[in-house]
Amino acid sequence: MATKMNRTLIYLADLGHNQLTISSDVYPLGVGNLATYAQAYVRSPGGLDIRIFREPHDLKAAIDEQTPDILGLSSYSWNHNLALDFARYAKAKRAATVTLMGGPNFPLTQPEQETWLRGMPGIDIAVRGPTYEGERAFRNIVQRYVDAGGTVEGIQEEPVAGNLWIDRRSGEFVAGPEIERIADLDEIPSPYLAGLMDPYFATGYLPMMAIARGCPFSCSFCNSSVQSNSRIYRHSLENLKADLVYIAQRVRPEVALTFADDNFGMYDFDEEVADFIAYLQERYSWPRYIRTTTGKNRGERIIGIMRKIRAALPMTAAVQSMNPVVLKNIARSNIRLETYTQIQTEVRAQGMQSYGELILCLPGESRQSFLKGIRDLMDAGVKRISAHQLMLLHGAPLSTLESREKFGLKTMTRVVARNIGNYTGEPVIETEEMVVSTPTFSFEEYLDVRVFHLLLTIFYYEGNFEEAFEFAHQQGVSAFDLVSQMHAMLEGAPAAFRKVIDDFVRESREELFPSREECVAWARRHFAGLVSGELGGNLLSKYSMLGRFYAAAEALDFLRDALAVAIGPRLDEAGLEQMEAVMAYLRGVMLYAPFSETLSATPVWNSAYDIEAWSGENYSRPLADYSFGETRRIQTMVDEKRKAVIENRIRTFGEHPAGLGKFTRTMFARDFRRVVLSAQAASLANC
Ligand code: SF4
Repeated sequence: MATKMNRTLIYLADLGHNQLTISSDVYPLGVGNLATYAQAYVRSPGGLDIRIFREPHDLKAAIDEQTPDILGLSSYSWNHNLALDFARYAKAKRAATVTLMGGPNFPLTQPEQETWLRGMPGIDIAVRGPTYEGERAFRNIVQRYVDAGGTVEGIQEEPVAGNLWIDRRSGEFVAGPEIERIADLDEIPSPYLAGLMDPYFATGYLPMMAIARGCPFSCSFCNSSVQSNSRIYRHSLENLKADLVYIAQRVRPEVALTFADDNFGMYDFDEEVADFIAYLQERYSWPRYIRTTTGKNRGERIIGIMRKIRAALPMTAAVQSMNPVVLKNIARSNIRLETYTQIQTEVRAQGMQSYGELILCLPGESRQSFLKGIRDLMDAGVKRISAHQLMLLHGAPLSTLESREKFGLKTMTRVVARNIGNYTGEPVIETEEMVVSTPTFSFEEYLDVRVFHLLLTIFYYEGNFEEAFEFAHQQGVSAFDLVSQMHAMLEGAPAAFRKVIDDFVRESREELFPSREECVAWARRHFAGLVSGELGGNLLSKYSMLGRFYAAAEALDFLRDALAVAIGPRLDEAGLEQMEAVMAYLRGVMLYAPFSETLSATPVWNSAYDIEAWSGENYSRPLADYSFGETRRIQTMVDEKRKAVIENRIRTFGEHPAGLGKFTRTMFARDFRRVVLSAQAASLANC
């Protein structure tokens, strides 16, 4: 067998779409690990020249300049077709380039793996590894490449552990022997200390680390849940500290730290990591925010860790369902609700926002049980809940044919919001397979719950209408009940607001297709509309912007009517006067589109209540305590600085739902309000 003596040029790419959105905003740790591992363990007389890539245009430029011997591509649901596009592009430049694909986006069973590989003729080899840990499988395939003289045919002469392919000559499906997971993650040399991540410190992307790999839970919708991934393997504290210091000395202090861990905060070891993070916060004022997934049990430990690292760790109540039948069906266990409630108290004490996550259409879930889950989380103090739709991920047990049949999962395909682009001359369209009905959750119910969630997003999550919800609360109506009331009254909502909801439902239907082929054909026909944002995108974000900024006056009228009905007969004359004072206040202070008009208006109204003072004291006493004892004239003005910020952002992002969706992400509800002159000033102005 010939031995290749030349230096082997390897490009490893964990690509992200970047034309309409940044599909992933973290450093490419996965390909960094593959690079250092191969450099450390592949024996190659000519040596390896390994380069890593994140941006499609960088990879294209590199391929144009010099096509590599090996091109390795990571596959996730948001970049799979982008990866395939670059495999095609590289092969067209040089057919001898060996194309590899790894990552979690890979089916679980061998028949599905074979079908998957046969559908990707541009990929020579799937680098699978144990579950989807790629380092050892990648080392093996590169070693074989070097030993076999640098051809695909040479590689495919016999199976390679951890790798799968369709044999070039025989057309047979070949799966190499299984390999063991890496038990000591220090076996992987640090990509940070090797300098591979240095170019990313200037980008604004978030540095990513993995303290541990593995997850002891077995949630069947998740591709981390397979049995072989259940043991937890770690880096040593010493190595983690070295990486953290390396990052702390280079990163801008406002940039968050990301842990790729599935259950941070659940293990004793994480307490030692937290101690060191607290030291870094003292020494480098970093990290101020940590993005990760917190553990599903050991709530007390998580609370202790949150305290140690002072407001930097948000707790995500990612319960996915609160229904015991569903939890059994998906083999998931959650932190107990009482523990969640304690954690939410801690989150609020640290001045942080709390998030919850649920998934629609899980097996056994019904409309009623799903809405109860939202109510339970809101009652536990969670301020914002993501109601994700169930996506069938390759590699997750719920995606197998057997599970689909067992649970009667009906799916449709849609474009992954804004994950499209044209990088090499061909449109690339990412798609996802969504569960849209089950025997216990009909498609119409799926749409109906999406509408409920849209109402929560418009009215509750951002705190835009906080005073109305606080008034409802003081009158014995919970936020959930107020939104339920609006949901029940939608038929009679003001026409402009009703149109927002109808259009949302229409687009939610239209974005779904029976197959990927039909979805892609539609997306290609409408590519320009998708790129401009006129079509597609994140519908929840788009329509929440329309409801909040374009039908704002009607939304306020609708809220007022629902509030009156929800409080019902308890709303006496004084209560009615207070409610109207709250609504007049909201009408007076809120800024909305067209901003050229609302930014220059300075409404004046009469009120018998000091809503500002009530809100300023965090609604700790009844609104009745804030009576002026007379009717006063309230005047408003637009803060010049605030006006300049809004105008500047409109110039940058555009005054349309997609633009507003972007710039509101970094602004608070209060940034879209006029300033009320003090009661005294208003009173003087009245003189
Ligand atoms: S959803 Fe989270 S807890 Fe469940 S298996 Fe996946 S990573 Fe583990």
